[in-house]
Amino acid sequence: MKLTTPFRDPELARGQIDAIEKVVAGYDGTITLMEVCGTHTMAIYQHGIRNLLPPQIRLISGPGCPVCVTPVGYVDHAVALARRPGTIITTFGDMIRVPGSSSSLIHEQATGAAIRIVYSPLDAVAIAEKNPEKEIVFLGVGFETTTPTIAGAVLTAQRRGVKNFSVLTSHKTMPAPMAALIGDPELQVDGYICPAHVSAIIGADAYRPLVEQYNVAAVITGFEPLDVLQGIAMLASQVVNGEAKVETQYRRVVKPEGNLKARDILYQVFRPCSARWRGIGDIPDSGLELRPEYSTYNAAEKLNVEIEEPREHPGCLCGDILKGKIRPTDCKLFRTVCTPEDPVGACMVSSEGTCAAEYKYGS
Ligand code: SF4
Ligand code: SF4
Repeated sequence: MKLTTPFRDPELARGQIDAIEKVVAGYDGTITLMEVCGTHTMAIYQHGIRNLLPPQIRLISGPGCPVCVTPVGYVDHAVALARRPGTIITTFGDMIRVPGSSSSLIHEQATGAAIRIVYSPLDAVAIAEKNPEKEIVFLGVGFETTTPTIAGAVLTAQRRGVKNFSVLTSHKTMPAPMAALIGDPELQVDGYICPAHVSAIIGADAYRPLVEQYNVAAVITGFEPLDVLQGIAMLASQVVNGEAKVETQYRRVVKPEGNLKARDILYQVFRPCSARWRGIGDIPDSGLELRPEYSTYNAAEKLNVEIEEPREHPGCLCGDILKGKIRPTDCKLFRTVCTPEDPVGACMVSSEGTCAAEYKYGS
């Protein structure tokens, strides 16, 4: 039996659905819950969770996938670096397919640019050591889950005296975007299904200021169907009872204080900064930039390139998708022009993107 099997047991799931129905019985409002993690988005679509819930519960997808929230200007910057002679771009897989204003990394690769997919930022440091005459740029995209490994790669490069390695940073953090969306009157979020991996690093306590300031329910939830259903039951119970607190459904992994060791290494190399989110705009303290003492590893400072003026595809509604305002099927390009094989917007690229999830599992 796989470890995940008990978390997919149909009978236990039925019990959770019954529990949710009991919690909301007689509640005549709508309970809007937003997930801000790409894997939750996938789980909700894959297991048809929306269709199992009572009508009082509305699930909406927020800015969860790191690839989706990376702004078009960042892709343009990466494309400009890929065109720079003597440069090798290293990246996790999905980023090469994200459309920029007039190109993408995969198009640049097809026309001869050196772009390599790596599985760890340390692979990029190793490529730099093997190619001392080249500049190796790693695309630093992700939440607190990936940033500690990138911090580790910067420290490794420093320790080994590798000078031709740098990072183009677009690191994002939670829970700042959750606070940015809570005030949106169109959304009316009552509760957040908080991310699992991110919370394992930042800890449950990181959500307390958000909950206290905005009186919103928050439950850190695992990825299996039973986890998600249980998280929804806990959130619904808070909302129905007029409570707003941080609870952890995913207690088998997430601690109140998070992973202190990972956070230490992260903040040794990075510091908080304002960051631009696709569709949402600039959010103070929602990103991470390299500290000045590591500026020699900052590709944006080290390598001067001309970047085109960013332009979104006029028909792509990724911005509204990422704010939870519309569903992918509301976009005219969905399935017709925009597909996972030929994505028009970032939300169709990553398997964790809302449009990709709807394409794969939607009716
Ligand atoms: S890194 Fe983990 S927590 Fe963050 S969006 Fe992806 S699956 Fe969710
Ligand atoms: S379907 Fe494609 S074009 Fe439409 S919002 Fe999603 S990613 Fe953008």
